[in-house]
Amino acid sequence: MAKKLATARTTPRMSKAEKFGGERRRMGEIIRILKREYPEAHCYLDHASPFQLLVATILSAQCTDDRVNKTTPALFSKFPDPGAMAKAKVKELEKLVMPTGFFKTKAKAILETSKVLVEKYAGEVPRTMEELVELRGVGRKTANVILGNAYGVPGFVVDTHVGRLSRRMGFTKHADPVKLEHEVREFVPMPEWSMFSLWLIAHGRAICTARRAKCEECPLSAYCPKSI
Ligand code: SF4
Repeated sequence: MAKKLATARTTPRMSKAEKFGGERRRMGEIIRILKREYPEAHCYLDHASPFQLLVATILSAQCTDDRVNKTTPALFSKFPDPGAMAKAKVKELEKLVMPTGFFKTKAKAILETSKVLVEKYAGEVPRTMEELVELRGVGRKTANVILGNAYGVPGFVVDTHVGRLSRRMGFTKHADPVKLEHEVREFVPMPEWSMFSLWLIAHGRAICTARRAKCEECPLSAYCPKSI
């Protein structure tokens, strides 16, 4: 017991605030490096309007951005806006989005969403999380993509790269995307939320890949517990 108390006196426990401050500083360094390494980071889904970004993001579920980008030109040339897409036949949409997988569900989602945009929002894509997640096929991830990339409203997108890197870098243990979003974004200044996700996606593609974390060549290694 005496030994235990002595240890406790010599190694005082860090308060929650101190720990949080330390993690925020570590995140600050990580952001500084990511900003330097990926100045060209951007949304990889091709689009010419918030509506097209919304549709492309719905199609990107369980599909690569490259495949979506190969699929959307034919779709958008025929149905470029909600007004046109709301009048489409579901079978035609299914055919056009088939390469992205889950085509029946996705075709139904973009058709119904287009109808709601026309009827309720005068053909515009809404600008709030609450309204966006009411649309069929739209969850928090898609809503955050729209807010951040179409409207410049800070949106913290959690995709597979952001989840994996946040856990490897020790900012969360959560696998649940909503819990992860709320925990990790506490360490990131709000104006950086959208870019932070894009930087992590770029880093997750280039170095900290799902198959292998290439810690030996990673510029973040001094700040990442996985490599220390
Ligand atoms: S040090 Fe390793 S685990 Fe950490 S971010 Fe870099 S590659 Fe990923």
